[in-house]
Amino acid sequence: MTMLKEGRPTAPEPVKEAHMAPATATGNRALMLEEALIFEIGSVDTTGVDFPDAPKVESRLGGLARTDAIGLPGLSEQETVRHYTRLSRQNYAIDLGLFPLGSCTMKHNPRLNEKVARMPGFADIHPLQPQSTVQGALGVINELAFWLIDLTGMHGVAMTPKAGAHGELCGLLCIRAALEARGDARQVVLVPESAHGTNPATAAFCGYQVENIPATPEGRVDLAALEARLGPDVAAVMITNPNTCGLFERDMKKIADAVHAAGAFVYCDGANFNAIVGRVRPGDLGVDAMHINLHKTFSTPHGGGGPGSGPVVLSEALSPFGPLPYTARMADGTIHLIEEENVGEEMPQSFGRMSAFHGQMGMFTRALTYILSHGADGLRQVAEDAVLNANYVLRSLEDVLDAPFGASGPCMHEALFSDKGLAEGFTTLDIAKGLIDEGFHPMTMYFPLVVHGAMLVEPTETESKAALDQFILALRSLAERARAGDEALKGAPYHAPRRRLDETLAARKPVLTWSEPELAQAAE
Ligand SMILES: *Cc1c(COP(=O)(O)O)cnc(C)c1O
Repeated sequence: MTMLKEGRPTAPEPVKEAHMAPATATGNRALMLEEALIFEIGSVDTTGVDFPDAPKVESRLGGLARTDAIGLPGLSEQETVRHYTRLSRQNYAIDLGLFPLGSCTMKHNPRLNEKVARMPGFADIHPLQPQSTVQGALGVINELAFWLIDLTGMHGVAMTPKAGAHGELCGLLCIRAALEARGDARQVVLVPESAHGTNPATAAFCGYQVENIPATPEGRVDLAALEARLGPDVAAVMITNPNTCGLFERDMKKIADAVHAAGAFVYCDGANFNAIVGRVRPGDLGVDAMHINLHKTFSTPHGGGGPGSGPVVLSEALSPFGPLPYTARMADGTIHLIEEENVGEEMPQSFGRMSAFHGQMGMFTRALTYILSHGADGLRQVAEDAVLNANYVLRSLEDVLDAPFGASGPCMHEALFSDKGLAEGFTTLDIAKGLIDEGFHPMTMYFPLVVHGAMLVEPTETESKAALDQFILALRSLAERARAGDEALKGAPYHAPRRRLDETLAARKPVLTWSEPELAQAAE
């Protein structure tokens, strides 16, 4: 096969499998079209637009004007539109089908949210506008803050963090400021084995030493091991609840009491709040700080790196240290943004800022729309249906896939399976690739690390029973093939635009620039 210098085949890969139809001349498969790079469609010597000749003016660049070609591809409007439309058709999206990624809460984004976020009064304003002209937008932030405090039973909320991980950073900075205020230089943050990678990363980023707490065989934090490790050097414990094994940490109250008795703080990773919203208030469990991923629980769109929003709810002990700015309703009913210059006596201990302005306005508008359109009863039903759907997946597949914690009772928002029982040589990756052929985005794989070959499925509450049944049918068939040792599965995906890629190479040595297409010859 001939390869471009970029390592991409010059021609579509022929389908060699006997049961497949022969390759087409174009590489197109029915309505799924092959697509070249934009540089290969257009040419750097052509242009898609007709500009009048520029009038001769004297250069003011002092001899620094570019003399060589800029090297951008020239395409007509139609070629450009087709290029991006074809590429977009090779993408999978929540608007196409179920997105079973565990720990991601990929749910339907109601169009009402989008409509409200696009209203000119929200979409066309600027963070530096006089506050008197954006009272409605500040009101949205203030009201959303009220809802988040109410839903979590906490004391305060920092609205400015822009993602879950950013919220973790905000929470740990509050904890550090509170410890420093009492002259306490604790160095250690405890994190359970099953934690999301952002937890230890955040603690390390804040300069803390990270230590693991083991899990019990039932997949929960080992309370005895945690208590044994607590001491005067421990600043905080970071616990995810429900945890990344899809289980509720039943000992949360006991954990919080022990942590507080040892003079430390409880950070709760609230990324999985969707499973308990309206049912459990983290404030009642003794949590000191918890981020909420608006882009998960409150349905603002996510994936592909953003945008996100990660407000952090804070206990009474931590609220005075939260970041600026924040909104406050004045006696005359107007809403003010409290900044460094007008903070007054209220929050002299704030650790500073998390972002230049007020946070992710578009996400706030969407989240508040979602909350108000669901109402209190609707939000509670979100949690109930999310848990019901996950348990339906878990119980429908546990005869063909090993469910390591299936015996410890119902799961919460996600169903966790392992690769135990697959035929020799078959892996979680084979099942994930098989799912692509079946028309589904793969589930989260190899996370959490406490389970061998983990497959983590979070269907969310927005999937219908019919959609879940389709997914279960696909996953069941793949599990049966992997158990029976069906060699063909190792070649999946067969029907996707690309087959199995060298994902490690792609991640470690991404080719991000285009260069002139000299063909590097690589033997077939
Ligand atoms: C998604 C997630 C995070 C990180 O949130 P981002 O918004 O992606 O930064 C942290 N912890 C858990 C458990 C998560 O699922």
